[in-house]
Amino acid sequence: MRIKTGLITASAVSLCFATSAWTQALIPPRPAQPAPPPTAAAAPVTTPTPAPTPPPTATAKAPCANPDAIGVSRVVAIDTTGGPGFGFEHFKQLDFLRDKEVVLTFDDGPWPVNTPSVLKTLADECTKGLFFPIGKHATYYPEILKQVAEQGHTIGAHTWSHANLNNKKLTEAQQKDEIEKGFSAVAWALGAPPSPFFRFPALQHPPGMVTYLGERNIAIWSCDLDSFDFKASTAQKVIDTVMGKLDKLGKGIILMHDFQKHTAEALPALLKKLKAGGYKVVQIKAKAPVQTIAQYDEELQKSLKLPTVSTRPLSSVVQTISE
Ligand SMILES: [Zn+2]
Repeated sequence: MRIKTGLITASAVSLCFATSAWTQALIPPRPAQPAPPPTAAAAPVTTPTPAPTPPPTATAKAPCANPDAIGVSRVVAIDTTGGPGFGFEHFKQLDFLRDKEVVLTFDDGPWPVNTPSVLKTLADECTKGLFFPIGKHATYYPEILKQVAEQGHTIGAHTWSHANLNNKKLTEAQQKDEIEKGFSAVAWALGAPPSPFFRFPALQHPPGMVTYLGERNIAIWSCDLDSFDFKASTAQKVIDTVMGKLDKLGKGIILMHDFQKHTAEALPALLKKLKAGGYKVVQIKAKAPVQTIAQYDEELQKSLKLPTVSTRPLSSVVQTISE
């Protein structure tokens, strides 16, 4: 189903809004990281991604060692044809959750310490999440993102650099670059394309890009409730916000950040509270992986190589002038 741009209204500047200061602080400088390649031009979207290694196989129903675990109550497969949108903050049409069901979503990883901590908690609770990594972060820590996949979680994408795609300074080509390079970076890190699931940074949905994702058959994930974990001063505040909103809504797609320390700290107690409150976790899967665009895959590969060094012979570069 094609998402009509009319669905995206002024409410796009929503409760899920993140401050620009936070956004800028999100990606610390990495001296070892090569500069991103020049902006790519628009490209046809029909070229499939070469997959150098097979996708990590999700372990088939491993027995859960924790009898009190929240687990997974239901697995839902999404057909992303036409780019359906989910999350009542922006999309009201597709309401697939039953009463007391939640989807755990995690943005902005992979990141050291916090992402592995989130993974450990999810494993301890025998449950599954939906991750929206940032492309750059995926290139910094591909091994962490691989762990997310190996543990059977679902992975989409969240742009290359966490740019606010509603920023009027960005051209449409640059907006598309952010989306496509994000997917290519995640595919590079995993060695296989992720799910065709996308979340806009700060939940800023430019109508042109909503249409574009529809043409790309990529589903858009807003949220039903925002944990505001990036603003929370303690882990307890994350728990209180989520439980308070859930108790009003009765169910929902929960937006959290595996990038955030307080979220990682809050998650064990939060999952226990969810279970005690009668909530059940729904695992989301895609019917087919995303098709990345070859041009972006290639440019990413080039940008990740070490900078070209001089090919002059050693003797012409280093000479002994005194012994
Ligand atoms: Zn984000």
